[in-house]
Amino acid sequence: MELWDYAKLGENELLERISVARKRQNAVILAHNYQRIEIQRIADFKGDSLALAKQAVEIDAPVIIFCGVMFMAEVAKILNPQKTVLIPDIQAGCPLAACATAEDIIALKQKYSDYAVVTYVNSSAEVKAVSDIICTSANSVDIVESFPQDRGIIFTPDKNLCHYAKVRTGRDNIICWDGECYVHDRFTLDDVRASKMKHPGATIIVHPECPPDVQDAADLIFSTNGMFRYVEEHLSEPVVIGTEIGMVERLHDEFPQTPVYPMKVRAICSNMKLITLAKVARALEQNMYEVNVPENVANKAKVAIERMLAVS
Ligand code: SF4
Repeated sequence: MELWDYAKLGENELLERISVARKRQNAVILAHNYQRIEIQRIADFKGDSLALAKQAVEIDAPVIIFCGVMFMAEVAKILNPQKTVLIPDIQAGCPLAACATAEDIIALKQKYSDYAVVTYVNSSAEVKAVSDIICTSANSVDIVESFPQDRGIIFTPDKNLCHYAKVRTGRDNIICWDGECYVHDRFTLDDVRASKMKHPGATIIVHPECPPDVQDAADLIFSTNGMFRYVEEHLSEPVVIGTEIGMVERLHDEFPQTPVYPMKVRAICSNMKLITLAKVARALEQNMYEVNVPENVANKAKVAIERMLAVS
């Protein structure tokens, strides 16, 4: 069957096909918090990059269907070289991850030879392989603080997360790569002000990939798993969420009693939304698309990822 044949099927038939095929394959479905809500609903595990990376280590199944973008599926493969990792759409990349290459990082390392390279998980396997350690939006401060205070740091590729880690650690010896996520970098101070006017009394929570003035104006800054935990612990309190809309949809789905408002309804990552039920059904039934990372790259990247997992 071609993709358009799957796309013509109704939701119930797709769900039935997915149910049968995942049992037959003994497959586990992982979904990032920015996935379409119908994808999140069929997932065995949901979460942010750190939670999914940890989950990937513990999975006891021969097949992983990774509903997210390519760098996340690569991490799952690097941590599970013996397993089959499938991503339902091979085009699901991340522009932030594509904005720095291994050659860029090697050139910086030559210029600042005594600096450590801390790389956000939103990066290619090749960039991870030339980094000292990986971080996520949930643990960037802990990772930076795992180095002595006087050790210079090259932080790639997200400049806003770099700013967040710089402010929280009080270090001025961090060089930030000039990359950003097009979804989060578009949040503005006006968005925060408008949210405060519209939802007085609501707690404003933003993601650390948002620009510095947005971070400064918010009440709290959390990764998506941090946002989830906050809402779980403050069920009756209204919150405004400044991140990709999939996270807001998850919160609505799981905490229908909590007033959760999006800071921006059009904060949509089109790359994340490439994954659909039709593509998941095709992935399970036709084993596509298999994610592979060259062994020499995977081995080096694994060292940097495992250093992160040892810290956080
Ligand atoms: S939300 Fe931003 S960082 Fe995340 S996958 Fe989309 S473009 Fe990349």
